[in-house]
Amino acid sequence: MSLPRIVCRFSCGAASAVATKLALAKYGHERVEITYSDTGSEHPDNKRFLADCERWFGKSVTVIKSEKYADTWAVWEKERFIMSRQGAPCTAALKREPVYLFERPTDIQVLGYTAEEEDRAKRLREQNFERVIETPLIEAGLTKADCLGLLERAGIELPAMYLLGFQNNNCIGCPKGGRGYWNMIRKHFPDQFERMAALQRKLGEGSAFWVEEDGTKLTLDRLEPDRGEQHNEPSIECSIMCHIAEVEIAEAAE
Ligand code: SF4
Repeated sequence: MSLPRIVCRFSCGAASAVATKLALAKYGHERVEITYSDTGSEHPDNKRFLADCERWFGKSVTVIKSEKYADTWAVWEKERFIMSRQGAPCTAALKREPVYLFERPTDIQVLGYTAEEEDRAKRLREQNFERVIETPLIEAGLTKADCLGLLERAGIELPAMYLLGFQNNNCIGCPKGGRGYWNMIRKHFPDQFERMAALQRKLGEGSAFWVEEDGTKLTLDRLEPDRGEQHNEPSIECSIMCHIAEVEIAEAAE
């Protein structure tokens, strides 16, 4: 009987890159598969980072992409919503669904949760108890800063989004981002900011990302440029596992 596959969910982020490297050292190149879900909306520099990491891993990455949607904008415009209580439809359409064909129930999944995210990883395991999940960074006590340092020492230039000051390397213009994150998008990617503001105008106030204390819906048109500090905001969670957990939590609350 063959051993289960070790599937590393590489996201073009620093943490998942180091988690993958550790999994390769533990299990060897034969048993490990590395996947990257290409949403079509991440920074173009991710292609360079992915190629650098493939050289570092000594193994190629399987890129998984939706056949139905070219990018996040195509999902939001077709589905006519950007976020709901069940999460963002782009996660399901661009990450969850395309990966169905690749998955096997016996896979052992390697995720890049860092030492600061131990509680989050614990919750994720509880919500996905039927899956075998490994978090090598937590086991090794590695923080996000450690991962950034390890990559730099490996001679790999960090993805452009980190160099611009973003805390993550997700899609450019993610609805799960906070006020500070969106003001960073306004500064560095004004076209994306304006495109999202226009989409919110088209879809109406229900598409606002935030609700103020007085109950007012805060759309991007109303977001003051000095609101929010990205480094104080919760990090954006957009893994396949998180999406499953979000749906289950929302269904349980209905
Ligand atoms: S990172 Fe954000 S925009 Fe990209 S797929 Fe995930 S939720 Fe959607």
